Amino acid sequence: MQHKSFRLLNAHRIVMKAAVYYRLDNIKVKDMPKPKIGQDEILVKMKACGICGSDLMEWYLKSRAPLVLGHEPAGIIVEAGDTVEHFKVGDRVFVHHHVACLTCHYCIRGDYTMCEQFGKTHITPGGFAEYFRVPAPNLQIDTLKIPDNLSFEEATLIEPVACCIRAMRKYHIQPSDAVAIIGAGPSGIINTILLKNSAASKIIVSDIVDYRLKVAERLGADLTINLRNENFIKKLKGVTDRRGADLVIVTAPNVEAFSEGMQACRRGGTLCLFAPTPPEVKAHVSPHRLFFSEITVIPSYSTSHVETRMALEMISSGRVKAKELITHRFPLTQIQEAFKTAVESKECLKVVVTNE
Ligand SMILES: [Zn+2]
Ligand SMILES: [Zn+2]
Repeated sequence: MQHKSFRLLNAHRIVMKAAVYYRLDNIKVKDMPKPKIGQDEILVKMKACGICGSDLMEWYLKSRAPLVLGHEPAGIIVEAGDTVEHFKVGDRVFVHHHVACLTCHYCIRGDYTMCEQFGKTHITPGGFAEYFRVPAPNLQIDTLKIPDNLSFEEATLIEPVACCIRAMRKYHIQPSDAVAIIGAGPSGIINTILLKNSAASKIIVSDIVDYRLKVAERLGADLTINLRNENFIKKLKGVTDRRGADLVIVTAPNVEAFSEGMQACRRGGTLCLFAPTPPEVKAHVSPHRLFFSEITVIPSYSTSHVETRMALEMISSGRVKAKELITHRFPLTQIQEAFKTAVESKECLKVVVTNE
């Protein structure tokens, strides 16, 4: 009897562990109140949550710290409010942290990530916690049940794959296009895999880490270029009849990558800007060259409820082999180590934080 009441107490405990980010090298696992849910919300026990490249950008997070990061979560519903429909306790779910309103000027034009509600909606406190609360809009618009054939870890790839699919829906790939991808981190590799499933004729990937280039080769790159010891532009022009790439995707978050991307793009081609730089960083773009070269620049920020559903389909069908991207796993209690690995390891792609 005593034993049973102890178990009950444990199940209903009101504190939980969450990882509070102060700085990249200062992330502390702390006790905090377990979130309380409203009648139209759910509480999810986090099972796995990916570390995103943007979680490693100090300039991006500095003004908001301290905060609990984690926007690539998957878990299991442990509480559901009285009026919640379509979901129940025990369901395995992926939850998108941002959702659009669907009715504003931006939304009705399909620019969901520009919606004013988009950046204001959040799961609380974040994915790097034992439990997180899913507000009603996130639940209604972008909470997806994870099919039985996918693990929680694989489901953490839904958001990053969806970001790449969003970019893909913005640029137009034509049969036989040559594509150059600058940066072979998780985003570069996911773009490679998606383009391998497209009509592109050549996929050329550049990076400074050999390990990542090897993975790119294994998962679809036709040619890889290590920027440390090869001339990227020269080699790229050599395989594109001196034109340059029809489509360039810049996934490395620095201005050098952007400038190199502009040089790598053929006349009339498209450059997809897939990663931000700090706000004060400026690139020199000549309107003269932009005009006469007719290069189209397409930035792609984040993703929406449209692409998360497509990403789930691509992962569960096996077209995107999510498992191949996950190189490291750490329990929530070792999150500092997880971040350190994501920043420093040369043999690393996606790092996933888990919670048993
Ligand atoms: Zn992300
Ligand atoms: Zn809107």
